[in-house]
Amino acid sequence: MEIAATLERIKGVVGPRGWIADPRGTEPYLVEARGLYRGATRLVVRPASTEEVAAVVRICAEAGLPIVPQGGNTGLVGGGVPPEDGHNIVLALGRMNRIRAIDPVNFTMTVEAGCILAHLHQAAAEIDLLFPLSLGAEGSCQIGGNLSTNAGGVNVLRYGMMRDLVLGLEVVLPGGRVLEGLSSLRKDNTGYDIKSLFLGAEGTLGVITAATVKLFPQIRARATALVALPEVRAAVTLLGELRAGSGDRISSFELISRPALELATRHIPGVSDPLTGAHPWYLLCELSSARAAEPLDEVLEEALGAALTRGTVLDAALVRSERERAALWKLRESIPEAQRHEGASLKHDISLPVAVLADFVARAASWIGANVPDGRLVAYGHVGDGNLHFNISQSAGSDRERFLSRADSVRCAVHELVHEFGGSFSAEHGVGRTKVAELERYTSPVELALMRAVKRAFDPHGIMNPGKVLREQ
Ligand SMILES: Cc1cc2nc3c(=O)[nH]c(=O)nc-3n(C[C@H](O)[C@H](O)[C@H](O)COP(=O)(O)OP(=O)(O)OC[C@H]3O[C@@H](n4cnc5c(N)ncnc54)[C@H](O)[C@@H]3O)c2cc1C
Repeated sequence: MEIAATLERIKGVVGPRGWIADPRGTEPYLVEARGLYRGATRLVVRPASTEEVAAVVRICAEAGLPIVPQGGNTGLVGGGVPPEDGHNIVLALGRMNRIRAIDPVNFTMTVEAGCILAHLHQAAAEIDLLFPLSLGAEGSCQIGGNLSTNAGGVNVLRYGMMRDLVLGLEVVLPGGRVLEGLSSLRKDNTGYDIKSLFLGAEGTLGVITAATVKLFPQIRARATALVALPEVRAAVTLLGELRAGSGDRISSFELISRPALELATRHIPGVSDPLTGAHPWYLLCELSSARAAEPLDEVLEEALGAALTRGTVLDAALVRSERERAALWKLRESIPEAQRHEGASLKHDISLPVAVLADFVARAASWIGANVPDGRLVAYGHVGDGNLHFNISQSAGSDRERFLSRADSVRCAVHELVHEFGGSFSAEHGVGRTKVAELERYTSPVELALMRAVKRAFDPHGIMNPGKVLREQ
């Protein structure tokens, strides 16, 4: 069937409010969050129900028309934007934003894929419960995107990644059938865990339309501090001490290098450093508990005091009010934006076993010093999970194009070193378009063959987000 007729059929399914074709309207769906990719499409489809998604996918399957599922379009690896050739449609889930059910007895919530993450936080808080996934883009990313990228964020140490927070999924498969798997069971050992295949699949195996997620008791006590450190090794030591000393009450453990902190205080209005003096590394560390009476400030103060005496901590500022806490988190969350003000950056979202983090940073920093003279390390990240945003920003006054021309060779060298230390080239952002070659390089032939077999089994005609994660065969 001719493409124009296929598009008309799709428009008929979703009605006049369910599609956008004019260039001004489609523009926001075509550009990736960092502006690294700009795609093209003849149609953005915005279905309002699972039935509409299934009908659209069925039409696409019959016509062999590729689909790019899209949530909040905050992904950082080009997975949610269509390719430049204009041959894919974008299937945007934003209109499917209903909370279908909240069950305070079961501690679960069933939500549609287009719900914005921050709205889930509000809905859980209204019944005095917590949905713990938290990340910088939470005001615009959607739960369908979080599931499809197996998102992490700042509370992984305590609550795990998205994979750990989901019990059931509803998914429209590439042929248009609906997998009705909105289970709310915590125990269910009945064969293969099919739902787990869609978590981190980045839209290559189907369209997630709804999910049942776990809720937790609301946080009632917190202690937060900014801690100055002489070296990365001290962060790892403190992590172990605090986990044991607090009865595993750490919920966030964020490492910030001095250059990253300087960028945030220089470029973001209202962000300041509460400590005096310049220190090589900092930690934003937070303990939390569902028990209001828990003396977390005392626990943190005591642990930091002991570390100060030993010299593993150089200085610390404990937060005394919600305003001070918000200011510290603003400092942490504004680093990516601050980096943009300073020029170009080469970004690496890596993870390593916590035990080798310090050795890795020392080796990688010395490689950068010797090989990237016009760049400086601006590292920060969720160090409690072994996850670093190991970024290199161009030095003041250096030539942007020249700096960026080495992006591939620097990325290759960093990822080689990560591999040598037993780490991952993509801790939480996924593979998308950016890291397809890395997936092929660092995944074992056996695992890669299994991934390709899964893709063929779910999507034999290759219509679901082709070219993302795995190269088209
Ligand atoms: C400022 C900022 C901070 C960030 N911090 C973090 C962080 O701390 N941790 C982290 O993990 N990530 C982080 N990210 C990355 C990003 O926010 C996450 O990957 C997020 O989970 C993506 O959600 P989204 O709705 O924007 O998905 P999109 O960007 O729209 O899509 C991402 C991928 O999922 C697929 N997809 C989207 N919805 C569906 C669906 N319903 N069904 C099937 N496939 C779908 C898309 O095709 C694409 O491949 C950050 C991004 C920004 C901009």
